[in-house]
Amino acid sequence: MNKSNRRSVLRTIGQSALAGGALVAGGLAPARADAAERATTQTAQSQAAMTPARALQLLKAGNERFAESRMFDHDLPFERRATAAGQYPLAAIVGCIDSRASNELIFDQSIGDIFSTRVAGNYIDEGVLGGLEFACVLSGAKLILVVGHNDCGAVRGACDDVMLGNLTRTLDNIRPAVAAVDGFQSDRSSANPDFVQAVAEENVMLSMERIRTNSPLLRAMELNGEIGLQGGMYDLASGRVTFL
Ligand SMILES: [Zn+2]
Repeated sequence: MNKSNRRSVLRTIGQSALAGGALVAGGLAPARADAAERATTQTAQSQAAMTPARALQLLKAGNERFAESRMFDHDLPFERRATAAGQYPLAAIVGCIDSRASNELIFDQSIGDIFSTRVAGNYIDEGVLGGLEFACVLSGAKLILVVGHNDCGAVRGACDDVMLGNLTRTLDNIRPAVAAVDGFQSDRSSANPDFVQAVAEENVMLSMERIRTNSPLLRAMELNGEIGLQGGMYDLASGRVTFL
């Protein structure tokens, strides 16, 4: 069966399952071995059974599928219908606005699987923190993942101390990471990719620190083991996330 036929068959299976009410039982798991590549969506049941470690494992597995070009078959209309009545995401991901680093795509997640926050330079401020508290305290997400990436324009701008309109304020959130990276005395500009990478990694660590420091709610959940907090760096060329 070629890939196109296979997709069509899988889609048909998905539609029958929906029509037959299999959805209600959280039973979106593939019923047949050959449907294993079909994406599922998170349900109230799957979220209730989720742990921080399992959520991280699922994101790691999704990124491996993406990097190895063996993503699940996503029937987006099916996923939309399956999640329209409620959302039960497993994680909240804070990433960059970079056009090449979509959280859903690089972790091969379905509609309804993750809360996705994207801001230039994946920094944490009050607005982002409020969203994360909504995701974890009120909506049951079990993991917060902060993901930076290589060759980040926002990080490069902070390294070069760029001042431009509102971007100046945006980069103010990243400048502490620049200051926190020692060394690289020969070239501490965006022309030095090693320096830019070191700052991007430091920026992820500072973002995690800001979550812990500025959100007592999330910090308490982390200490109680109700949520996990993890950092990572995405590589634009390989598609792989290295977990920090
Ligand atoms: Zn970026």
